[in-house]
Amino acid sequence: MTPVLNANASAPIVLGVDLGGTKLAVGLVDSTGRLLHADRAPTLSHEGPARIVQRLIELCRRVMEVGAPAGNIAAIGIGCAGQIDSGAGIVRNPANIPNWGEVPLVSLLSDALGAPGYIENDANAAALGEHRFGAGRGARNMVYMTISTGVGGGVIIDDKLYRGENGNAAELGHITVDYRGRRCPCGCIGCLELYASGSAIAAEARALIQGGLSSSMTAAAGSVDVITGRHVVEALRQGDAVARQVWDGVLPILGAGVVSVIHAFNPSRIVIGGGIAQAGELLFAPLRDYVARHTIPIMARVVELVEARLADQGGIYGAAAVAIQNC
Ligand SMILES: [Zn+2]
Repeated sequence: MTPVLNANASAPIVLGVDLGGTKLAVGLVDSTGRLLHADRAPTLSHEGPARIVQRLIELCRRVMEVGAPAGNIAAIGIGCAGQIDSGAGIVRNPANIPNWGEVPLVSLLSDALGAPGYIENDANAAALGEHRFGAGRGARNMVYMTISTGVGGGVIIDDKLYRGENGNAAELGHITVDYRGRRCPCGCIGCLELYASGSAIAAEARALIQGGLSSSMTAAAGSVDVITGRHVVEALRQGDAVARQVWDGVLPILGAGVVSVIHAFNPSRIVIGGGIAQAGELLFAPLRDYVARHTIPIMARVVELVEARLADQGGIYGAAAVAIQNC
């Protein structure tokens, strides 16, 4: 036992900080992937950035007091939604936190906690987390896709995160799947996210039910108006005909997006996470079939589609991976 314990004790400990629109999650992780201690708190996004950052720092301090009482953390990693300037350590106007403006989050946390800090957007952080600790381990070229309220992604090339020219690469939700389609808030036309996100899936289900079809989703949600993507996934598991109709419509669009990603990056693994991926084989079996039929064969042969593994702790592990890659 002793050598193992020594190995873990000498592994650098980093602080992973996940700043989301509804919750703050902070955890101490060592480079072997052990989660030493974690805690969370509501974001209370209406309070504005000064109070959110103050409470975030207090949460970090509480976690460090329990999990790293000697204060010996090697680095702080931050995952956050929004437009991130990772070089300058600035978060600009995350869509899920109103009145944020521009906040130099990295220097605020670094100065308060006494360790160097690093930041990536939440999808890139999740890609790094899955690559280091989750379903992407061992895949030198990997793409992470998240399908939840929106669709996001992160790309690992030769074991490194691909950032693009100014840190915004891999906006996979904004791949065009219909060049004559609807206008996306991003300014583009026919983006994947408009058709295959959890929000889009739920909207399609609501439209079918409001058009006169009967579904178990209405009772499950309590009202048609509040049906979410998760309700669609749950109803699909139970054999609901409307959920099946929505799903059958979404799969080829999602398939087209995934095939485009494979053709662009030739990955050995695509890791899919987010609430919609919790459909499990109801998603992955038809998606694998679509990919096998529509992908250039030499690329189809080497790629596997797998479900993300870090689930609820993905935000903390992703942020920790951002720190570790800079240690
Ligand atoms: Zn778009």
